[in-house]
Amino acid sequence: MADTEQSRVWETYSPEETFSIGQQLGQEAAAGQVYTLIGDLGVGKTVFTQGFAAGLGIAGPVNSPTFTIMQVYEEGRLPFYHFDVYRIGDVEEMEEIGYEDCFYGDGVCLVEWANLIEEILPRRYVRITIKKDLEKGFDYRKIEKKEVNCP
Ligand code: ADP
Ligand code: MG
Repeated sequence: MADTEQSRVWETYSPEETFSIGQQLGQEAAAGQVYTLIGDLGVGKTVFTQGFAAGLGIAGPVNSPTFTIMQVYEEGRLPFYHFDVYRIGDVEEMEEIGYEDCFYGDGVCLVEWANLIEEILPRRYVRITIKKDLEKGFDYRKIEKKEVNCP
């Protein structure tokens, strides 16, 4: 599979492998970065996020903050802002929780279902897409990482 400097692809065949890709990216994450996580329900976004948090040095469990939209974890190498915007009605709800301090702060943000808040994404972010391909098996996932840089 073709990897370029701005784009990388992994294929996994178990939740543990997806966790480990997340962990690797969490270890590489830098202050001020925003990661978006795109993929259908049940594809492995939470598994990936748990690995990502572990990679940042967060020991405790990380669950989807579905009813609070955002959950912050301070015990890792960098502050970790985990957003799940699946149930968001309007981007104004993002303003109410003060997302700008997170997106443009010194921590690392990860936004599940970021396609629902596309208009407020920063010009520069890292897009992670997870997809199934049932022809390759029930547990197969394709994970793509792309550096997005809007002019
Ligand atoms: P999402 O957050 O995208 O809705 P979850 O991470 O909660 O999805 O659930 C993913 C489900 O798929 C889990 O039950 C997990 O065990 C299963 N699974 C099977 N194969 C994989 C894989 N390769 N990567 C991630 N999850 C997998
Ligand atoms: Mg989830």
